[in-house]
Amino acid sequence: MKIICIGRNYTDHIKELSNERPEEPVVFIKPDSSVLPKEQDFYIPEFSNEIHYEVEVLVKIKKVGKHIDKKFAHKYYDEIGLGIDFTARDLQSKLKEKGLPWEKAKGFDGAAVIGKWLHVSNFQDVNALSFSLFKNEKEVQKGNTSLMLWKIDELLSYVSKFFTLKKGDIIFTGTPAGVGKIQVNDYLSGVLEGQELFTVKIK
Ligand code: ZN
Repeated sequence: MKIICIGRNYTDHIKELSNERPEEPVVFIKPDSSVLPKEQDFYIPEFSNEIHYEVEVLVKIKKVGKHIDKKFAHKYYDEIGLGIDFTARDLQSKLKEKGLPWEKAKGFDGAAVIGKWLHVSNFQDVNALSFSLFKNEKEVQKGNTSLMLWKIDELLSYVSKFFTLKKGDIIFTGTPAGVGKIQVNDYLSGVLEGQELFTVKIK
């Protein structure tokens, strides 16, 4: 199983990190070892003093596909979820400055929180899903998939030009504004269309 992540897919988040608006989706991979096991707490790694949360809508691939046409992309998934792309922002900034790959800052153990899955039949339109992240009961991030620069079907089509998508692969579709630092004893929870799909304790 692989995790394919999209960066800079919401204009408001591009602005907050002073990044350039990309001409094509920004794509990176997290290894399967980055998945935080269910019900497990997240331990802040010793190599970073600035771990950020990034709440993101997730898509689970249900069958093999490559070079998927945008108009058939919906046939390749039927479950939507919510998760966190934990990012060692201090390390990422250093790597970006030097033009080096981000993997250490994004792919470390526990860096991928994957919540419960919901069948697409629960939703009228996957391109109009509201979602939020709460930190210690306070809403810190709020997004809607209608604000994505590249919508879910476009993302599937795009990434499948480079990577064969396999059953069980997961797409992280990018984060809206409001990313921020976590601290020991924080408690995070993610809500998609009114349903809480994950909770994480920070240790
Ligand atoms: Zn992200």
